[in-house]
Amino acid sequence: MDLVKEIKRLKKEKNAVILAHYYQVPEIQDIADYVGDSLGLSQKAAETDADVIVFAGVHFMAETAKILNPTKTVVLPDLNAGCSLADSCPPDLFGEFTKAHPDHVVITYVNCSAEVKALSDIVCTSSNAVKIVESVPKDTPIIFAPDKNLGRYVMRQTGRDMLLWDGSCIVHEAFSMDKLIALHKKHPDYKIIAHPESEEHILGTATYIGSTSGMINYVKTHPNDKFIVATEAGILHKMQLEMPDTELVPAPAVEDNTCACSECHFMKMNTLQKLYDCLLNESPQIEVPEHIRERALLPIERMLELSK
Ligand code: SF4
Repeated sequence: MDLVKEIKRLKKEKNAVILAHYYQVPEIQDIADYVGDSLGLSQKAAETDADVIVFAGVHFMAETAKILNPTKTVVLPDLNAGCSLADSCPPDLFGEFTKAHPDHVVITYVNCSAEVKALSDIVCTSSNAVKIVESVPKDTPIIFAPDKNLGRYVMRQTGRDMLLWDGSCIVHEAFSMDKLIALHKKHPDYKIIAHPESEEHILGTATYIGSTSGMINYVKTHPNDKFIVATEAGILHKMQLEMPDTELVPAPAVEDNTCACSECHFMKMNTLQKLYDCLLNESPQIEVPEHIRERALLPIERMLELSK
């Protein structure tokens, strides 16, 4: 069976849209209606008139689409596609944490569960985190969760002190400083660009720090440069499509036989076959209990409003 042809046929038949994250495998990015970062995907999810949203990403992303579109069918090719960062912030513990600091505004990075969003005042992505934090009056204390690395980066950018949740992403904490230095010595003319979920010492080596969209844009606007890219390696596909002649190397991860170099195994759980199956069967579907959805919607809407 020609999977690509069948997915296109089903998409038309069911009035479906395929939204894919930059970290998805190339064949999924190539068939998607829209490929983007968390902010772009949330914006697309908010404005789509499709009846079925196929979310080629991880669970919290599909959940965000469902929160924005309660009457639409939202499917995820593999229900096990989770996120170590979202898992590092259990809602019950986070609820106790926010209760202990009732005077704080709670800003959560979109990489968290619907329950954690429901405990938040404003959601942010790595594209708009600085802007969202700056929107809070200077004398108001802030809790920032769940990513401590992004939180620290935003603190440096804004000069704001924030109470950080101790969460992180396994992929962005797997980069090896020693190997990165060795690689840069081998290619001294390459610029290092990094995602702010990376650790402080990795960010300290970078010429540019930004979200996935920001990094792609930086590569596009520097056509004469070569790059070492410190984020999930799936982004190289989009960068190379946009800039076929630009030399790109993924930043090396610590040697670990249990995971591929700088690849998110959650993101890579989705395959073209699973995407076809979930579109055909409209399953597995994402459901969010209505009382949580209503509370989680407000901080997402605040973010979308502030990002206009
Ligand atoms: S790359 Fe990290 S933050 Fe992104 S989905 Fe994978 S585990 Fe979560």
